[in-house]
Amino acid sequence: MINLPIAVDNCGKPATLRIEVYSHVAAESLDGVVYVCPVHPNTAGDAITAAGFTTATAPMTRDVERRCGFVHIFATGTLAADDQHPRWCRRDGCDRRGEHRSHVSDVDTNRPEASIITVALVQTAHAAAETTVVLSATGSLASDRVAMSIGQARVLRYRLGGLIDAAGHGNA
Ligand SMILES: [Zn+2]
Ligand SMILES: [Zn+2]
Repeated sequence: MINLPIAVDNCGKPATLRIEVYSHVAAESLDGVVYVCPVHPNTAGDAITAAGFTTATAPMTRDVERRCGFVHIFATGTLAADDQHPRWCRRDGCDRRGEHRSHVSDVDTNRPEASIITVALVQTAHAAAETTVVLSATGSLASDRVAMSIGQARVLRYRLGGLIDAAGHGNA
């Protein structure tokens, strides 16, 4: 139910780390644990984050043996819930809006900024609809909403990384 990249799914090496998977449906809930080897924490973590969850990494307890890519889903968590919603959906008002929405993340820097920017995952309720990343920017006058495909969002991540690097770390 957590879609790990093929690199992680096929790895099978002894796991050394557990990545706890949290969602924000009502309060923060621990929904699952993904076990990974020393090579794959970032690959797995990125995939889980991209799916709208937050993660916390912890070393494995000594008496547990798992293989890289092993996923444990807690029966009480949202990942174990029905398949009417994407796994990242907040399950709140989807029918009324005609779309599923994830938790909305503020792009917050703890400083005054010219625009308020948020990002979220959105998918229209149509069965074959694709997941999109929606970026909303509210400035002094108007609010803009840009929907992009997951592919575009992935390229944007690299482009932003390049631009931030080019700008230098002095402003970080
Ligand atoms: Zn691995
Ligand atoms: Zn939904």
